Amino acid sequence: MTDPDRTDRAADRPSSDLMKRETAVEKARQKTAALALEFGKAWEYAPAPETPDHVKLEERYQLFIGGKWMPPKSGKYFDTVSPSTEQTLAQVAEGNAEDVDRAVKAARHAYDKYWGKMRGAERAKYVFRIARALQEKARELAIVETMDGGKPIKESRDVDIPLASAHFFYNAGWADKLDYAFHGRKVRPLGVAGQVIPWNFPLLMAAWKIAPAIACGNTVVLKPAETTPLTALLLAQIIEEAELPPGVVNIVTGAGETGAALVGHPDVNKVAFTGSTDVGKKIQRAIAGSGKRLTLELGGKAANIVFADAPLDQAVEGIVGGIYFNQGHVCCAGSRLLVEESVHDIVVRKLKDRMATLRLGDPLDKNTDVGAINSRAQLERIKELVLSGEREGAERFSAPCELPSKGFWFPPTFFTNASQSCRIAREEIFGPVLTIMTFRTPDEAIEKANNTMYGLSAGIWTDKGSKIFHVATRLQAGVIWANTYNKFDPSSPFGGYKESGFGREGGRQGLAAYLEVQ
Ligand code: NAD
Repeated sequence: MTDPDRTDRAADRPSSDLMKRETAVEKARQKTAALALEFGKAWEYAPAPETPDHVKLEERYQLFIGGKWMPPKSGKYFDTVSPSTEQTLAQVAEGNAEDVDRAVKAARHAYDKYWGKMRGAERAKYVFRIARALQEKARELAIVETMDGGKPIKESRDVDIPLASAHFFYNAGWADKLDYAFHGRKVRPLGVAGQVIPWNFPLLMAAWKIAPAIACGNTVVLKPAETTPLTALLLAQIIEEAELPPGVVNIVTGAGETGAALVGHPDVNKVAFTGSTDVGKKIQRAIAGSGKRLTLELGGKAANIVFADAPLDQAVEGIVGGIYFNQGHVCCAGSRLLVEESVHDIVVRKLKDRMATLRLGDPLDKNTDVGAINSRAQLERIKELVLSGEREGAERFSAPCELPSKGFWFPPTFFTNASQSCRIAREEIFGPVLTIMTFRTPDEAIEKANNTMYGLSAGIWTDKGSKIFHVATRLQAGVIWANTYNKFDPSSPFGGYKESGFGREGGRQGLAAYLEVQ
């Protein structure tokens, strides 16, 4: 194996001949790309919109409690709006503390009377049924996810929905094998789980929460995010059709107050929260001393580290996928790019070329790479942080794309010449904005990557396996990808360090979060 320290040596850096050749190739590529854009609009595709005609949304959605659809006690409803058109898609019930109480009572009843005592093999049948129904309704779910959240249909179709179904399949498989999951130790469910999720992966986050919880014998009250409640409500319809016993899964829609009522309910045994670090801290304070079990999946400011010996085109594709394909609405988005100084200019040029080919627009179009920003509030936050980057002296580049006149949009953007103290290098932007910084040695890359309050994920790009191990073992991040980025599997645990939270979702570790392991 290569000695990792060798990476500092000049021998490992590209020779000046190689650099010159790369530069010449890049110049030729740029010229060709510019000509293609000018004469043929070579990168444009004919529109290929997915039709939402067969999707039937209800005008109003109620709360799903104890297996029944119930109006909220407050009588209030809120609009859920498509971020790409600003049209109201449906009205959704605003659950209050009384509704949360009804839901927790239904969940407790279901746990005590049947679900907590049911044999694992029996529970598995229901969980498998939900997994299959998600596959059968995948197209409809993908369309609704895209309409409600603004993400490109190719993301919801190829990532969100298949992974949501995979999580139900994976956990269903464990339901009758829990006694073997922890090497001779006895396990039992915790009771009622109160679960609160964010807007960036609405159905997938619901699956990450509900599937392991019910497979392990717990019952659930889930609160989806207020800007993207629709697919969780469609999931409730699927759960109803799967004839899951009443009260095993309850869905209460609403905003922060509803979430606070749920996590603070005295009869909830386990709280599972995914969302911002600020709200995660509030929840931790609110339930301190209550004896409730807690897992927190919070924000991130991941570093993608690109060494000079990396396959640079592959790395650029990973960088683009890691920050632009989902509008940067990903907790593990690679929003800091640390690039070895000797290849900085090449990487920046390649990135600009690739960004010129990104298609931003109608998220329902199958060719769209970059969709809409989830809400006006999120767009304002992105704009404010980008302005702070400009004010702090970093250099901004935005992809040359036209923004639609209606809806919430932000062009793929990066900053160079940014210092580590800039807000854009420290704060989670949760938008398609990348901050590029350089390093000279692996140690400097590690130090810069770890210089954040977060510790969710990171990426390493190099052709040397020894360097991957050397760097990965020193990075403070729960998930580290090597020569790829943003890849998920239900059998791999996911979760953070430091202010990115604690606890793991996925894999056996994800089961442990819903079990008393004796
Ligand atoms: P958010 O914290 O504003 O809201 C998340 C959820 O919490 C929503 O359902 C919201 O209604 C609810 N909520 C708000 N205040 C609450 C309170 N006091 N008590 C209980 N619930 C409350 O986050 P967001 O803007 O919806 O999502 C973006 C954040 O989520 C980002 O920081 C992102 O990094 C994080 N995230 C993390 C992961 C992960 O796995 N680590 C995954 C996805 C998103």
